Amino acid sequence: MTTTDVIVIGAGPAGSAAATVLAERGIDVCVVERERFPRFHIGESLLPATLSALDRIGVRLDPDEHQYKAGARFLDESTGQEQTYWFHDTLPGTPDHAYQVERALFDGILADRAIRAGARVTFGAKVTDVHVDDDGVSVRTDAGDVRGRYLLDATGQNALLARRRRTLRRIHGFGRAAAFLHFSEIPDAALDEIEPHGNIQILRTPFGWIWAIPLRGRRLSVGVVAAEGRISEQDVRDAVATSDLLRRWTRGATATEPTLVGDYSYVNTEPHGARFGCIGDAACFLDPVFSSGVTLALLGATSAAEAVGAALARGDEADPDLLADHAARMKLGYRAFYLLIHRFYHTAIFENLFFSEDPDPLMRRGLVTMLAGDVWREDNVFQNLLFASRRVDPSREIP
Ligand SMILES: Cc1cc2nc3c(=O)[nH]c(=O)nc-3n(C[C@H](O)[C@H](O)[C@H](O)COP(=O)(O)OP(=O)(O)OC[C@H]3O[C@@H](n4cnc5c(N)ncnc54)[C@H](O)[C@@H]3O)c2cc1C
Repeated sequence: MTTTDVIVIGAGPAGSAAATVLAERGIDVCVVERERFPRFHIGESLLPATLSALDRIGVRLDPDEHQYKAGARFLDESTGQEQTYWFHDTLPGTPDHAYQVERALFDGILADRAIRAGARVTFGAKVTDVHVDDDGVSVRTDAGDVRGRYLLDATGQNALLARRRRTLRRIHGFGRAAAFLHFSEIPDAALDEIEPHGNIQILRTPFGWIWAIPLRGRRLSVGVVAAEGRISEQDVRDAVATSDLLRRWTRGATATEPTLVGDYSYVNTEPHGARFGCIGDAACFLDPVFSSGVTLALLGATSAAEAVGAALARGDEADPDLLADHAARMKLGYRAFYLLIHRFYHTAIFENLFFSEDPDPLMRRGLVTMLAGDVWREDNVFQNLLFASRRVDPSREIP
């Protein structure tokens, strides 16, 4: 049996970022990842707030490898309405750009960073059993057992602990299912439109919305999200065939087979306890319309790891409340995005602001600051109004 201080299950962005922070503090960390890298993962569009988390773990993305992203464009081709949000148009202090990444490459960079920091990462080792007791934690993996003082569950939507402990609660009223595929060798005409800014395109449709995410190397990620009912492989092909923009951007390009995912917004109602914490999607996952997943995963992972590292140094890692402050802070972030996403799906007010040609500059800047993932500041009037509105109480869905 291997022994360690902290066992991290999963080497996605959350697991690798947490492992890096802990290992840099001199803490012994074992990361157990079921896949062998590089491996595909969806979730390619990052928000500017990611940059501060990446900075924290000493990762700087190379613009030659990752698609620079200056903003997000929302459009409705049926009405011709459109609006582009530029990340330079935020409240002071928010980073002014982000990147769109091939996750196989990005997750590999983060895992390598954790290894360089001193974490022991085992790939191809699926965790099949977890046991938390008064004195420590044990996990059973395909590659042997590991015993540690603390456990971080970073298993993404697998949400190992939440599913076992039955603390995973679905969030209703958002996207129900997605189908996505990738195009390679997109035409020069598409590059001419994409290159100056690299923006993600969000197309509103009668059934939900579509994303088009430009990636480096003449690639384009396209997905459709249905607000209700089921989705099929054919839906994403139809979406491309019926959109002027997507037809133009994919003319002559080669498409992969579509992938389907379903029913995915949820919160883990007990994301921490004695000797364990859940980070990234294992703590909460919200509809991806505003690309919040990786950003919240990275920011949450680094903050949780700081708290766990400090507790290990004090020797009080068995304290069930050691992640209480961290969890409260994350809840604020989840609720902020919950409110935005709820407005997107359910109210015309938000649509008016989105497509308004002359929105109040302060409100607009506040909205863009939220869209950039900078949701933990007190000076955002737009965000404060969103929270003050009695229309929706986010604590009902994210308690
Ligand atoms: C359709 C869709 C579109 C999305 N688009 C975006 C987007 O544009 N931008 C964005 O930021 N986010 C997006 N997301 C969300 C994003 O994918 C996640 O939020 C992000 O990957 C979370 O990172 P993580 O580290 O928590 O989990 P993951 O990245 O899922 O990593 C978890 C890791 O744990 C491993 N693992 C799981 N179970 C076990 C086990 N039992 N034993 C060992 N290892 C295990 C997995 O193999 C995986 O490597 C999207 C999600 C969906 C579903």
